[in-house]
Amino acid sequence: MPYMDYAAGCPIDERVVEAMVPYFKEPGNPSSVHSVGLKARNAVEEARQKVAELINANADEVIFTSGATESNNLAIIGYAMRNASKGKHIVTTAIEHISIINVCKYLQKNGFEVTYIPVDRYGIVSVDSIEEAIRDDTILVSVQHASSEIGTIQEIERIGEVVKSKNAAFHVDATASLGKIEVDVEKMNADLVTLSSNDIYGPRGVGGLYIRKGVKIQPIMLGGGQEFGLRGGTENVAGIVGFGKAAEIAKQEWRSEAERLAKMRDKMIDGILKAVEESYLNGHPEKRLPNNIAVRFNYVEGESILLSLDMEDIQASTGSACTSKTLQPSHVLMALGLKHEEAHGSVLFTLGRYSKEEDVDYVLEKLPGIVERLRMMSPLYRRR
Ligand code: PMP
Repeated sequence: MPYMDYAAGCPIDERVVEAMVPYFKEPGNPSSVHSVGLKARNAVEEARQKVAELINANADEVIFTSGATESNNLAIIGYAMRNASKGKHIVTTAIEHISIINVCKYLQKNGFEVTYIPVDRYGIVSVDSIEEAIRDDTILVSVQHASSEIGTIQEIERIGEVVKSKNAAFHVDATASLGKIEVDVEKMNADLVTLSSNDIYGPRGVGGLYIRKGVKIQPIMLGGGQEFGLRGGTENVAGIVGFGKAAEIAKQEWRSEAERLAKMRDKMIDGILKAVEESYLNGHPEKRLPNNIAVRFNYVEGESILLSLDMEDIQASTGSACTSKTLQPSHVLMALGLKHEEAHGSVLFTLGRYSKEEDVDYVLEKLPGIVERLRMMSPLYRRR
């Protein structure tokens, strides 16, 4: 069964499961003073070290959260609230994940101003447009490293330099890029970086936020003093241990994995665009995540293609699983300048650790026929 929806959910690596099992069973609370608590605390700190090593950070600059959505909320709301006295303007882009866009809308209702920078037809945000948008009262710039939906990778290091030179803080959502391309907080000049466990084959419901030493944020989850006082609540010890193990594996394997996946990605993109007339690539042809195949087909609905693919045991998606419950076309695809019907004809395939060359061959065998059959039923399609 070619599972090609890694962006929506990765299987958990067997080595990660093994590392987690003991911590599911044991009672230790990392805040307890006794030895059972200490064991749990040590396990959390070991995991923190491993996650920090993956992104070239220090362990005390990483806190654990429930996932990328929480990390994005904490980074943006936490930074904005704590630093509001310096200014109330935030810069972000039109193609951020919905957990950034909705947080920004929330802040707009609460006295902040947000500038959403448009992107070009490949999904690239220009460094100059970021520079021009930064004002004296801009406190924070938030730009995703790469898009899970269209695969486009931003010029994040150059953007980081510009933001630093303007004395604003820089938040990077690295959910889609972690473990697929290099994520180095120093090279990116980042102050805050969102990390997700499941996207690197760790358990769901765990994530992290990198917070550069000296950068002040206000907690949004109020409780005990856990996670350096920035995120109250008893730690999800087994989940955190799993995230740490996944980070350790990612650090060792991401380069070879990326090389292998990029070959399969290119074969699949070339194969689809050659086999299906009026099919197009979404996102950038080169500055692209190694596992991302985002394509669109004229005259057909992406949803219909998905259902037909699923009947052939192929799982894909139309875009972000987080926004699949709305009938609105994806804000990311619309930001590329696509028409509604073009956005609706989009299909996203994402590969991962367990994808095989045969999976790609199987999709290339089935997909053209599916699109052709659906087009025959479409009143918009006239065969030439
Ligand atoms: N940011 C990006 C770029 C994403 O692709 C996602 C979804 N995987 C998120 C944030 C939110 O992740 P989660 O639903 O795991 O909180």
